Amino acid sequence: MQINKAKKIVIKLGSSTIVDNKGKFKKKWLLSLIQDIKQFRKNNQEIVIVSSGSIALGQSYLKIKNKKVKLQMSQAVASIGQIHLINEFQKLFEKNKIKIGQILITPDDTEQRRRALNARRTFENLFKLGAIPVVNENDTTATSEIKYGDNDRLAARVAQIVGADLLIILSDVDGLYKKISNKKSLIKEVNDVNENIFSLVDKKINIFGSGGMLTKLEAAKICMNAGCNMLIANGRNFNPIKKIISKKKYTWFKPKISNLDARKKWIISSLSSFAKIYIDQGASRALKSGKSLLSAGITKVAGNFKKGDNIIIVDNNNIHIARALSSFTSDEINKIKGLQSNQIENILGYATKSEIVHKDDIVVL
Ligand code: GLU
Repeated sequence: MQINKAKKIVIKLGSSTIVDNKGKFKKKWLLSLIQDIKQFRKNNQEIVIVSSGSIALGQSYLKIKNKKVKLQMSQAVASIGQIHLINEFQKLFEKNKIKIGQILITPDDTEQRRRALNARRTFENLFKLGAIPVVNENDTTATSEIKYGDNDRLAARVAQIVGADLLIILSDVDGLYKKISNKKSLIKEVNDVNENIFSLVDKKINIFGSGGMLTKLEAAKICMNAGCNMLIANGRNFNPIKKIISKKKYTWFKPKISNLDARKKWIISSLSSFAKIYIDQGASRALKSGKSLLSAGITKVAGNFKKGDNIIIVDNNNIHIARALSSFTSDEINKIKGLQSNQIENILGYATKSEIVHKDDIVVL
């Protein structure tokens, strides 16, 4: 695929792309990005922007120097900074006669199916109104347990929910390098984000902006599973997208070919989860042949989860074999694991479904 052939593009701007090192909003740069976006819109390409910068702008407005403010304080700082951020966007897009709409998101909005569908509807209606959605995490209410923390994975999840075919991550690096010290070792194309690819990231040196390369690789995994292309490129230049197209300097993550429907793409590209159901060999054979998961085949549960939560199904060799939505809570499964389906009602004391996970809610990996 080529950038100018994509139908729906999500553009993610990191804090350092949109705010300079003195804490000033980069107006001229955004104006140049808007010129690139106008070109996309002439070609009827839909655009979504995911922009960081609320904390950086809030800090500079409040003259707070510490690089890392504590979470509770950063919520307040973000609530001040987000107004400045969206204000700048609004002014500059308005100047170019383009409408924007602000969407502030928490993980629940993307990880709960009903809320994700609701979010998708809002995006679609903004497109109908000819407006560009500008998204950020709702940092003001996000706590450490329920927080994306980085806008890379958030942008990937948004790309999946709106059915984008391309996510462009504009960052302060040219892409993924085989060796960080060797500028000639930029990797052009990645087809599988495996252990080898993860091993290229030095977790100790985080020279890649706030989210780092690690969260960008996680984002790539989400996109690729959802059938969406993703590229990481340097957003430093004016007219960044035009430059990227002409210079072809980026790392392009190719999507997996997938015939999954939208709901299953949503299930498979869910954020990594600690909730797990361990199953025996018989159950894993059943799953692979497209059957539902019954209580008899369950050996263990890990993590606390509710009905409808996204879980990982792990086989007896400790291999993640499926992503799924559980029809039971972890407490319930703990009581009925290993038992026959006709014993469930007796043990729990109320009538329930007979499958722990229905086959329609399972995506075998
Ligand atoms: N949501 C945060 C902000 O706007 C940034 C998250 C990130 O750096 O990816 O400041």
